[in-house]
Amino acid sequence: MKQSRNTTAKATILTALENAHTALSHAELLALVNGVCDRVTVYRVLDRLVKEDKVHKVITLDGTIRYAACYHKEQHSHNHVHFNCEKCNTTTCMETVNPEVQLSSDYTITSYNFTVTGICPKCN
Ligand SMILES: [Zn+2]
Ligand SMILES: [Zn+2]
Repeated sequence: MKQSRNTTAKATILTALENAHTALSHAELLALVNGVCDRVTVYRVLDRLVKEDKVHKVITLDGTIRYAACYHKEQHSHNHVHFNCEKCNTTTCMETVNPEVQLSSDYTITSYNFTVTGICPKCN
């Protein structure tokens, strides 16, 4: 039953992201779901979750892509600030912080990438 296995992989990965409360890289996720999904499945499921708006991508300062669950199911925005801790290297979504950017009208914005770097409460 291919369908049910895919559904299980999707649920497992989404749950892992929701429980993490920080953004996870593909490698970190793979370690978490090891035994349930292989690396190709993790890539494929993440792709689908991003398309379905259940997960969003976060580009960290070192250029690696991390994935985070979308908590605000209604009226949520992916243009929120991400906090990058210099000590523990975690990336946290700050979904209530939405910076406003005012550009002149001849520019069209398709996405924002706001990363704030510093020390998180756990490391402070
Ligand atoms: Zn920290
Ligand atoms: Zn986020």
